[in-house]
Amino acid sequence: MKEVLILSGKGGTGKTSIIGSFADLADNKIMVDCDVDASDLHLLLAPRPTEEHDFVSGVKARVEADKCNACGMCIEICQFESITMEDTAVISKLACEGCGVCAHFCPEDAIILDKNHCGSWYISDTDYGPLVHAQLFAGEENSGKLVSHIKNQAKQLAESTNTDLILIDGAPGVGCPVIASLSNVDLVVVITEPTLSGKHDLERTLDLTDHFKIPALVCINKWDIHPEMSTEIETACTQRNVALLGKIPFDTTVVDCQIQGVPVTKSKTSPAAEAIRDVWVKLQKKINNLDDQVSVDGSLAGLKLPQAK
Ligand code: SF4
Ligand code: SF4
Repeated sequence: MKEVLILSGKGGTGKTSIIGSFADLADNKIMVDCDVDASDLHLLLAPRPTEEHDFVSGVKARVEADKCNACGMCIEICQFESITMEDTAVISKLACEGCGVCAHFCPEDAIILDKNHCGSWYISDTDYGPLVHAQLFAGEENSGKLVSHIKNQAKQLAESTNTDLILIDGAPGVGCPVIASLSNVDLVVVITEPTLSGKHDLERTLDLTDHFKIPALVCINKWDIHPEMSTEIETACTQRNVALLGKIPFDTTVVDCQIQGVPVTKSKTSPAAEAIRDVWVKLQKKINNLDDQVSVDGSLAGLKLPQAK
């Protein structure tokens, strides 16, 4: 079984359209949406949840008003300014970091630490195969932990169903959820666009995959809106010894398909769909060759990050 992560370095590159198309084209796979802060793959894949679970992480402090004598000590010692005084002390759930110091020092034992229900995760059926996805509640942190959790769930599901491929939709940027989504992947595909910020974010993303020694491939979306910048990106990829998987042209059919909620590869005539099919064929070959690359040229393909705790 192989895990392939699709990253973009930034939002708005068309990554979701492309991974939705891969979902349409790939056989025997499970999809994972690791963009738990602002997931959007579900808009394209129209999941029908078969399992829904709470995601609980960390604790939040809460005052039991009938025990509080309003001494104010907790307000003084909270380093996060999470507590205010009304008739009794009141803790802002949003501001509380769950350090537990207030509960430790409260003379009346009036503060308790509740487990923090900060999101939900799902296993869903889609027309294209199973999707494991999640939603972190607004203002909650620990998105990296939730990403690790749903990736582990997807892996268990893949093992129990003899699935060949896990296709992972990563979060934009290079932050905690992206780093968590890199854990254990075999190959990263970076979707970029021919703009200065696209090139800059591509470089940052490739720095990250280099750092973790994970092989990466690049795909330029809407390459023809700025051919010169596309050429610059190709040159940068060559200099870094990163293979270009393909170039997808700008095509209004992509937007039409997004509005209809279907992958663009459902279109028989779209130039973008045709280019994505070509990219997919090349990607399949790269996935199939991953094990060979390790043994033949000693490349780093297949090296694994340690599992996130
Ligand atoms: S330290 Fe305890 S008793 Fe004092 S104000 Fe805070 S919650 Fe109330
Ligand atoms: S648990 Fe920590 S952050 Fe939360 S209110 Fe108490 S002292 Fe402040």
